[in-house]
Amino acid sequence: MSVTAFRYAPLPPDTEPLRQEVRAFLRQALKDRPALRRADSWMGADPEFSRELGRRGWIGMALPKRYGGAEAGPFARYVVIEELLAAGAPVSAHWIADRQSGPLLLRFGTERQRDRHLPAICRGESYFCIGMSEPNSGSDLASIRTRAVRQGGGWLLNGHKLWTTNAHYSQFMIALVRTGDKTAARHEGMSQFIIDLRAPGVTIRPVRDLAGGQHFNEVFFDNVVLDADALVGTEGEGWQQVTAELAFERSGPERFLSSIALLHTLIDAVGRRPDAFQAREIGRLSARLMTLRQMSLSVTAELAAGANPAWAASCVKDLGTSFEQELPEVAQLLLESPPSVGGGTDHTQVLAYLMQLAPSFSLRGGTREILRGIIARGLGLR
Ligand SMILES: Cc1cc2nc3c(=O)[nH]c(=O)nc-3n(C[C@H](O)[C@H](O)[C@H](O)COP(=O)(O)OP(=O)(O)OC[C@H]3O[C@@H](n4cnc5c(N)ncnc54)[C@H](O)[C@@H]3O)c2cc1C
Repeated sequence: MSVTAFRYAPLPPDTEPLRQEVRAFLRQALKDRPALRRADSWMGADPEFSRELGRRGWIGMALPKRYGGAEAGPFARYVVIEELLAAGAPVSAHWIADRQSGPLLLRFGTERQRDRHLPAICRGESYFCIGMSEPNSGSDLASIRTRAVRQGGGWLLNGHKLWTTNAHYSQFMIALVRTGDKTAARHEGMSQFIIDLRAPGVTIRPVRDLAGGQHFNEVFFDNVVLDADALVGTEGEGWQQVTAELAFERSGPERFLSSIALLHTLIDAVGRRPDAFQAREIGRLSARLMTLRQMSLSVTAELAAGANPAWAASCVKDLGTSFEQELPEVAQLLLESPPSVGGGTDHTQVLAYLMQLAPSFSLRGGTREILRGIIARGLGLR
């Protein structure tokens, strides 16, 4: 097995004017957004804000112009999402479509699917969710049981997805389901489908998170009719397609910027005269952040070169989520300001909110233990 190290991949200098443009827009657009809402990070949704980003050409940036994209390089998109996340912009509505579904459809979709979906994604109007996990099938994704069987010219779908982020306002799900016969090997006989979530037979139920928010759902399919064009890519190759998709999901700056609002309120609360301990710890956090950013840029360069750096992407996610989860703990060591819900300062409210959300960071997108298994395999250790 060949192991590629992380390579230094600096941001091209020509991305700097774009960064300044995005920053100036966000300064104005988010001037009234409170710190607690900024802490939603990429879980905060605002369709009107998504449409505004679409008008500015900042969604689906890497997609070809004929589908509404900008044919921008991967680093231009990186700069835009880095600025959006650092500012706590409400990006959740279009997030999955921009990051995952658009690139997936470009790579595996039919021309008809691309024409239908990609322009609406780029306009910030079409929202997608990911239907992988099911009850009893999370880490062991190959044990999914939701099944589509051929019927007429299309398919008949039955089953149940769980933890589906944003299903309650997305128009579409891209789901991994079984299509092979029941004797097929575990990693075979799976396919991906685009499911219209308003179709008869689809039921969506909210699942509330620890902080009381509704971000994810369970989704039931009861004899849902899919037309032939719902199949994405090749029948039976869903596993390979999903594996390629996960590298996009695991290496972006969202894997170390989910708690950035807390770093901002912490620095403000500490003020301009930190003591030696506060200065050292904030310096350490900043140094870790910059290192993670370089690793993430390195994976972005690999992806852009057509590689599938699955283990390196897993490293970014594992180290990034450890950083995000430690931030609330370090913040509590630096200031004697206990977390507060429904009152208190910006800092104590953001602290309370992120303490409740942080446990989920190392579950979503693949758990820590699973990622470490992928890293070990990538390094030839298992
Ligand atoms: C905020 C959030 C959003 C999510 N959004 C989505 C979404 O949009 N779409 C979607 O499909 N899913 C989504 N998920 C689901 C997520 O992918 C799963 O929760 C995750 O894959 C773990 O699966 P599980 O919950 O079934 O836990 P399990 O797989 O049951 O794991 C339980 C524990 O056992 C450990 N474990 C399991 N197998 C092994 C092993 N072989 N070796 C060592 N340890 C092991 C795990 O690491 C974990 O600690 C989301 C989850 C969260 C928390």
